[in-house]
Amino acid sequence: MVVTQLPRFHYLVFKNPPPSFKIFPKPKVPIKSTASTLFSAPKSTLSTTEPIPITDFSLPDEPKLEISLDKLFVPPETQVSCDDSSLSTRILKGSNIVLSKYARDAQVVQAEFVKSSVRTEDCPSDGLPEFALVGRSNVGKSSLLNSLVRRKRLALTSKKPGKTQCINHFRINDSWYLVDLPGYGYASAPQELRTDWGKFTKDYFINRSTLVSVFLLIDASIPAKKIDLEYASWLGQNQVPMTLIFTKCDKRKKKKNGGKRPEENVKDFQELICGFFQTVPPWIMTSSVTNQGRDEILLHMAQLRNYWLKH
Ligand code: GDP
Repeated sequence: MVVTQLPRFHYLVFKNPPPSFKIFPKPKVPIKSTASTLFSAPKSTLSTTEPIPITDFSLPDEPKLEISLDKLFVPPETQVSCDDSSLSTRILKGSNIVLSKYARDAQVVQAEFVKSSVRTEDCPSDGLPEFALVGRSNVGKSSLLNSLVRRKRLALTSKKPGKTQCINHFRINDSWYLVDLPGYGYASAPQELRTDWGKFTKDYFINRSTLVSVFLLIDASIPAKKIDLEYASWLGQNQVPMTLIFTKCDKRKKKKNGGKRPEENVKDFQELICGFFQTVPPWIMTSSVTNQGRDEILLHMAQLRNYWLKH
């Protein structure tokens, strides 16, 4: 057994061979015309070889994260072995994600709202790759979107009357999209809107050919909710590529009603959903208050995007 240490989180890596990971179940059409634009995007200060400039959020009593090799998300064309002494430095902090050679050009230098669509076929048709953010109402989706693009109010666009039930596209660096999907599970919404999230978004998930991955936001400060498990289950059963984004990880105090710490909720959620997936989905712990996980999300998006463009 090899014990590896990261600056903040500690990983115990066990000697189990990883399964062959499949991250893009949906066949994708290569978009040659846009590739040159993408690769000429401004260079990120984030790279696979330099230390990742992230604030240290650790607390003295922070529990250790233990991840076995078979629970890591290993991107395609990436080798991992427990004998690899550099493995710990290649795992994104607060996540199970191994960095690949495709993790470059991660920084956001420009972001603009493009359009709101009510149907998949009305979405932008320029073929740029996109990532969809989705989660229960109040999960922290707008805060995360603003944090990713370092703009305080960009996501307000999606909250304007008439747009909350739309597919909202934000173009980043003129080369890819962040997509804000309607929140689900509104306590005050009519019953059909609360439970039948599928009517609106299932078609988008299944038919949007430029969708690289769904980023499903889960509130890590509370125990798993049934509706979140149903959402993850549906994505898994339909082989829609998914990354779990655990939000509000700065909320560390135990709640009176037997509440758990974010790390425990993260672990519980994964145990509850593991049966839905053939391979372990990537996950990242985040906080829009401390910006924990922001650079990690951007690096993960960059490596998925760059791989997608090349294949
Ligand atoms: P949305 O409905 O999913 O877009 O959620 P918002 O981004 O509007 O956030 C809902 C509430 O959660 C607001 O009161 C935010 O201030 C709070 N919130 C969002 N992200 C975080 C976070 O990372 N940590 C904490 N402590 N609160 C957050």
